[in-house]
Amino acid sequence: MLRAASIRFAPAIALAALFGLGEVGAQTQTQAQIQAQTQAQTQAQTSVDPAGNAAVIDDIVTGSRVLADFGVLDGFGHVSARDPNNPNHFLMSRSLAPALVTAGDIMEFDLDGNAVDARGRALFLERFIHAEIYKARPDVMAVVHTHSPNVIPFTISQVPLRAVFHNAAFLAAGAPVWDIRKDFGETDMLVRNPAIGRSLAETLGDKSVVLMRGHGDVAVGPAVRMAVFRAYYADVNARLQSEAVALGGLLNFLTPGEGAKADAVNFAVIDRIWNLWKMRVTTTLAK
Ligand SMILES: [Zn+2]
Repeated sequence: MLRAASIRFAPAIALAALFGLGEVGAQTQTQAQIQAQTQAQTQAQTSVDPAGNAAVIDDIVTGSRVLADFGVLDGFGHVSARDPNNPNHFLMSRSLAPALVTAGDIMEFDLDGNAVDARGRALFLERFIHAEIYKARPDVMAVVHTHSPNVIPFTISQVPLRAVFHNAAFLAAGAPVWDIRKDFGETDMLVRNPAIGRSLAETLGDKSVVLMRGHGDVAVGPAVRMAVFRAYYADVNARLQSEAVALGGLLNFLTPGEGAKADAVNFAVIDRIWNLWKMRVTTTLAK
């Protein structure tokens, strides 16, 4: 590479020396380069992080990739966050498979599900899940919608999803099942407008997870990391509960009191597992 580069630039250097412009030209070029670099950096900062949302955007990207890596999300599903600078807006990707989401794909929406600046980008049909939950629940800072394969059996069964272990402590408060057919008759099963989103948010109530009959679930939380944690552990819990049911006999679930205490600990130590997950998806990307 070095040899090729020096051969390529040799004629230019010889010409510059010939006309006595070598040093001045080099200085001018260096200043111009610095100016261009500074401009590029400023533009990059302005376009990627116009409102100082870089940290939350990074969590949305990481969370999307982590859940895809675990198989909780596949080509479908989405992670969003309330805009930290504007509680009446939220941030989520343009319509894209979660494993492919990058910071540049994150868009801003109002609580009616309208894109602030769509720029021709395709939007998720089910963004009303997020919009209506942010509207109904001021405490919710992040929402994850999945088609979690282990949870789906519990959306059509009479057996309620219950907290099997401490990481899924948030389930001890209950995980209601929402049936789109109850209010909207026979549909394509998608939360494709504000009225359907509102109905789902009403069934979620003050809980952390709502199951969607024949579709998937929604996990919410006070931060992206916690909503992602809950979406993942709802999936793990569903698998473990199915295994416990297969063993037979009476099951002994966490009580709501145990759930509240364990959930507080999970929130306190979330960064430990988050950093591990982030390292894994970053390493995968680097391969
Ligand atoms: Zn869906």
